[in-house]
Amino acid sequence: MKVTEHIEQANGKTLFSFEIVPPQKGQNIQELYNNIDPLMEFKPPFIDVTTSREEHIYIQKGALLDRKITRMRPGTVGICASLKYKYNVDAIPHVLCGGFTKEETEYVLVDCHYLGLDNVMALRGDAMKHEKYFKPTAGGHQYASELVTQINNLNNGKYLHEIIETPYNSNFCIGVAGYPEKHLESPSLESDLRRLKEKVDAGADYVVTQMFFDNKRYFDFVEKARNIGITVPIIPGIKPVAIKRHLQILPQVFKLDLPETLIHEVEKCKNNKEVRQVGVEWAIQQSKELVAAGVPVVHFYSMGKSDNIKEIASKVF
Ligand SMILES: Cc1cc2nc3c(=O)[nH]c(=O)nc-3n(C[C@H](O)[C@H](O)[C@H](O)COP(=O)(O)OP(=O)(O)OC[C@H]3O[C@@H](n4cnc5c(N)ncnc54)[C@H](O)[C@@H]3O)c2cc1C
Repeated sequence: MKVTEHIEQANGKTLFSFEIVPPQKGQNIQELYNNIDPLMEFKPPFIDVTTSREEHIYIQKGALLDRKITRMRPGTVGICASLKYKYNVDAIPHVLCGGFTKEETEYVLVDCHYLGLDNVMALRGDAMKHEKYFKPTAGGHQYASELVTQINNLNNGKYLHEIIETPYNSNFCIGVAGYPEKHLESPSLESDLRRLKEKVDAGADYVVTQMFFDNKRYFDFVEKARNIGITVPIIPGIKPVAIKRHLQILPQVFKLDLPETLIHEVEKCKNNKEVRQVGVEWAIQQSKELVAAGVPVVHFYSMGKSDNIKEIASKVF
């Protein structure tokens, strides 16, 4: 079922969902299931599965280093299929511009269509690890809006090369990313919102936000989005702080602000076990306020381990 249909059917009740990251290449999938199992009692209608783009690795060959390109966390679409059939849940693959040609993207989308995946999340992806700025892959897309257009074209039976006489239309519900504190490369929140509107105009059906730690950021963002005519559901993304280093890592990587009170609480902690508990309490307060405000879904970034998400969900849902 589509995310938008789940939201409609919920009739105003806030839903619980989360995002998982595929295991590293060579790891057993069982650990992933062990982390998902405890969350299923909260009946997520859908689970997102991230995609990691390719990266360079260097292998020692005698005195030389041999550079190879690899994907360290493959298997997004396969995991989606396995979640769908194992848990009877809608699983949403993240589809990236970075690292994929349009042809490869079409191939992935056709797989998703055959597997009965009804939703896809369309993202640009970040720069490669050794690069400062995002460079589009040769034959790929530069912006997520172009990827949305490609998916929307498929929904209208328009494949890349118009050689099919009676093409079958896919029917994907398309999600895109939104940034309550603006995307790090964007010159302003207003400019970023206009870009978000372009994604919606190209066919996106819903938005999932980047993490934020002050709900006011989300509420202001939604208001500004509505004011420029973005009418689709805007799902808040929540990440519980889990380690002390998050105080530096999160602002550095995502260019977002942490509230003073949260910083003080984390700084007072003697170890990361205490930080994890502060993160849980903070996320519970955030989630309760979002639910009270009637958001359609609270979407959690689980980053592998689910014990903290379970504790939050048990207090909120
Ligand atoms: C919910 C969520 C899930 C994510 N999942 C993943 C994942 O699975 N894998 C992964 O690698 N990354 C993921 N990301 C990170 C995402 O790939 C990065 O934030 C990336 O840098 C931007 O992606 P986007 O889709 O928002 O890009 P875009 O919407 O293309 O925007 C990127 C930047 O370009 C600007 N822009 C857009 N269009 C134009 C234009 N026409 N001209 C000039 N500027 C423009 C925007 O303002 C923005 O600054 C996720 C992010 C979120 C919020």
